[in-house]
Parts: sequence; C-alpha cells; structure tokens
Amino acid sequence: MSYSIKQNFIAGLPKEPYDNGHYVGVVAHSTANNGDSADGERNFESTTWQNAFVHFFVDDQKILQVADTNYLCYGAGHTANHLGYVQVELCQTTDPVKFKAAYEKYVWLLAKLLYNRKLPVVDGVTLMSHAQVSAKWHETDHQDPIEYLTSHGKTWADLVADVTAQYNLLEEEDRVLNVAVLLFTKDDFWSGNDVAAKNGNCALFIRAANQSVPAEAQSAKQLIVVGGPSAGHPNEVLLSGKDKYATAAAVAKYLGQ
Ligand SMILES: [Zn+2]
Repeated sequence: MSYSIKQNFIAGLPKEPYDNGHYVGVVAHSTANNGDSADGERNFESTTWQNAFVHFFVDDQKILQVADTNYLCYGAGHTANHLGYVQVELCQTTDPVKFKAAYEKYVWLLAKLLYNRKLPVVDGVTLMSHAQVSAKWHETDHQDPIEYLTSHGKTWADLVADVTAQYNLLEEEDRVLNVAVLLFTKDDFWSGNDVAAKNGNCALFIRAANQSVPAEAQSAKQLIVVGGPSAGHPNEVLLSGKDKYATAAAVAKYLGQ
C-alpha cells in the first residue's frame, strides 16, 4: 500500500539544517481544529510560519507536504526542532469515517518517513507525540495528539503499534525481488553470474540437493532459471538445455553473444 504525497511548499521558509545533518525521528501532532483541512492549514501557516510550522498536514483526502524535510521546522520547541524531527499534523474531524481515512494516511506517512531513513520505530525516541516532546524537554506544553486519538477510540500505544506494522509492511515490500536467477547446480554459477549482471546484478539462488526452489527466488517478480527443469514460476525465463552445453548455448543466446 502506498499514498501519494502532494507537495505545495510555503514560500520563504528558513533553510536551517538539523544538528545531526539529517532528521532523527518524527513528531506526531494533531491540529486541535475540528473540521479543518490540509489546504486550509497550509494557507494559515503560510502567513504565520514565523511562529510555528510543520512539514506535513494530513486530512481524509490527502497528504500535503508544505516544507522540505531536509530542513528543520518550528513545530515542537527548540530542542526537538533542532535535534531533527520531521513533524506531521493530523487534521481533526468528529466524523469517524473521515478520521479513519486520515488516520491511515497519517500512520503510513509516519512509517514511511522513518523507513526512508532506516530509522527503527522506537516509542518516545524516533516516534514521538508532541506530548512526549513537551514532557521530555519542557519547551512546549502541548499534549497532542493524545486527546484527539482518544476521542476516536485510539491510544498512543495503538498508533505506535500501527506505525510499527506499517513499517514492517514497507520492509516486506522492499524485500520482494524484481528479478532473481535460479541455478540448477554450482556448475551453472558463471553462466548465471552473467545473466544476473545483465539484470542489474540481481540475486542468485541455487537449488537445494533435492532440487527444491528457495522461497525467496519463487517470490521474485521474474525468475530466470539457468539449467535444470522449470521451477513452475508464473513469470519464468527458462535458459536450460539437455546438458550443460545446451544450457550454455541458451544462456549465450539470452545474453546476445
Ligand atoms: Zn503539536
């Protein structure tokens, strides 16, 4: 699953680097403004950013990015802002259907931002509520988004669990190989290596002694079989002959040699 991120940056925002050179986590906010929208919040912030601004607004319709995540925002107090937290505001509604639509985008975005930098989901460290930031550094007294989540039957622990589950899904999606090469025996290594090189040095697998196909190879989007019988993969390229010479010829033909 994936959502598109609409970008409409507010003009004139400062370009201050994070202390660490890159962001170290995310802060989850809610707007405290029932019935608002991402566009409406952006318009408001475009004239008030000197006081406060965040990077993203999420409503039931869209994810709107209003500031560059390469630079800090003014959303949660000096320490968190400068340490380096990308900050996301959840627009508020009393409508449970709209809440669900917005909440799912919010969860996905928080997970995606952490995943993009390969930061693990750690409650209160990489994933912080504004309430946790207030409790830790005492530079703001905001308690969002706890009360708002509660009004829709969600706890902070639920959000942490949901972001973690989404993060794991993103990892899984990445693990799916586009192309894999399956070798029949180790004798096929050099032919297979050339085939893998032609496919961006994709993963190489070798069949087990009982000829079974490794699960990861079988789950690749395309499987190129070098030597031996078909693996029964739905999107298979079979480069295989009666003997190793015929296989070598099939590989050479595939490589255009
Ligand atoms: Zn906040």
